[in-house]
Amino acid sequence: MSDLGDLYQELLLDHYRRPRNCGALDDADGVADGNNPLCGDVVRVFVKVKGGVVTDVSFEGSSCAISTALASIMTESVKGKSVEQARALFRKFHNVVTQGADPSENGPPLGKLEVFAGVGKFPARVKCATLAWHTLEAALEHKPEPVTTE
Ligand code: ZN
Repeated sequence: MSDLGDLYQELLLDHYRRPRNCGALDDADGVADGNNPLCGDVVRVFVKVKGGVVTDVSFEGSSCAISTALASIMTESVKGKSVEQARALFRKFHNVVTQGADPSENGPPLGKLEVFAGVGKFPARVKCATLAWHTLEAALEHKPEPVTTE
């Protein structure tokens, strides 16, 4: 992973070792499970929504470094945003990691999420970097069945 750069490594490792918003959320409005069989990542996302705003969000699970760091940075990135803004952020992120879209192009700024832009070069890792996002979407939509990347 050395070719992903030092900034990427540093931020990723920091969030992997000390994940933010990690743990179950009491009285969550939405909960969803996701798994990425290719890598063995398992994640559960909890979300609280009030007046169309994501007031709180957390995750728990057992995942690889990329999956865990993404879930941690994702929760930080969407907390306090409207559901629409959170979805727009995911769309932009998805375009960047799957289509190689320029992160500075139109759409909301990715902020810390931009460190995952290089993941697009490793197709197997893209699933690690989008699992928590798909699971968040399912939690927002109250989808009962678990999300899988396969
Ligand atoms: Zn993974």
